[in-house]
Amino acid sequence: MSDAPKTLPSCLDAPVLRQRGQREVFCGLTSIIWLHRKMQDAFFLVIGSRTCAHLLQSAAGVMIFAEPRFGTAILEETDLAGMADAQEEIDRQVERLLSRRGDIRRLFLVGSCPSEVIKLDLAKAAERLSAKFAPRVQVTNFTGSGIETTFTEGEDTCLAAMVPALPATEARQLMLVGALPDVVQDQALDLLARMGVTDVTVLPSLRADDPVAVGPNTVFALTQPFLGGTCAALERRGARHIAAPFPFGEVGTTAWLRAIADEFGVSDAVFAAATDAPRARARRAIAQAAETLAGKSVFFFPDSQLEIPLARFLTGECGMTAIEIGAPYIHRQLVGPDLDLIPAGPQISEGQDVDLQLDRARAARADLTVCGLGLANPLEAEGLATKWAIELVFTPVHFYEQAGDLAGLFSRPLRRRGLLKVAAE
Ligand code: SF4
Repeated sequence: MSDAPKTLPSCLDAPVLRQRGQREVFCGLTSIIWLHRKMQDAFFLVIGSRTCAHLLQSAAGVMIFAEPRFGTAILEETDLAGMADAQEEIDRQVERLLSRRGDIRRLFLVGSCPSEVIKLDLAKAAERLSAKFAPRVQVTNFTGSGIETTFTEGEDTCLAAMVPALPATEARQLMLVGALPDVVQDQALDLLARMGVTDVTVLPSLRADDPVAVGPNTVFALTQPFLGGTCAALERRGARHIAAPFPFGEVGTTAWLRAIADEFGVSDAVFAAATDAPRARARRAIAQAAETLAGKSVFFFPDSQLEIPLARFLTGECGMTAIEIGAPYIHRQLVGPDLDLIPAGPQISEGQDVDLQLDRARAARADLTVCGLGLANPLEAEGLATKWAIELVFTPVHFYEQAGDLAGLFSRPLRRRGLLKVAAE
């Protein structure tokens, strides 16, 4: 008999329940809300319908205090009697915008789902406008259509669209990929610098002039699990992906940093010196919130593609049990390392047939159900505690210093429900 320790089966090998049906998820236009904050000299011009304009205005308009950096060119059927007219209309709108706004250095033409827009060749429009306004403004197109993208995939299609235009480099460097809040990005760069990894570039960059290049000696680490298209685009440019669990919680952050440290030959002593103190802080902060979470069950509806790494965090670091972990798409190359850290047991599901999944959630009656806004209210009315998945994208949750806040996002609805129960008794 072999003395090798037996490893427990993980979710990496678990069967996946694949469902295709009606789904309840925001479209990719939603990602403009955080992308426009990140890329400070960019403008997002949505080529869409009044519905798209309403979505952006109601979801994001309230957050704009200065000159807005996104808008909607509304195309209606009458505009589209001829496609040539529509192309001219886009040109007119872009010219008007760029003549008024000298601060815009990157312009994104964002496609949406009305059939009139689908028929438009936005790639051609971007090419034509790029040639016209280069080098002052770079024009790129990507899709945020609800037919093709869920809300976080808008970031993926945006970043993937930027990759082909990046300058080439032979430099040995690390690229961090994903739009993080500035303060969180600074923490990540600081941790890497303490490990001696200083040739670091970030996609997306804050400003068009920030040097971001890619080539065969670039290795890249994703900070978000929904960047499958961007990952493939970078690989096509010769860069190599560093596979790792995502940097959520103490364990995820350490594993993510460890994978980079191994790539750059960082010694154990240097790694420990860089990470020991923040690891201890993260563990303490998680332990506090985990008092409420330990022993509780969680059910994930598919929404942000953060579900698998977050389930790994909640089960591995907060003592929760996952009943179902649903994700809109499962990129195994990206989330495989997280799946491998979740012991077999939960149902892994990909895609959605919302009524069937609601039946499963009602039967499971998990202590906490993580879902989109549209499902949360009805489920709350049925007595289930819920967490809005979209909050997880808008709140700083990565790396050590946010680990306690991340656990707190899940413990708060449970504590609130506990207090309401006590008050009702
Ligand atoms: Fe609606 Fe499609 Fe516009 Fe999104 S892109 S707001 S789903 S019409």
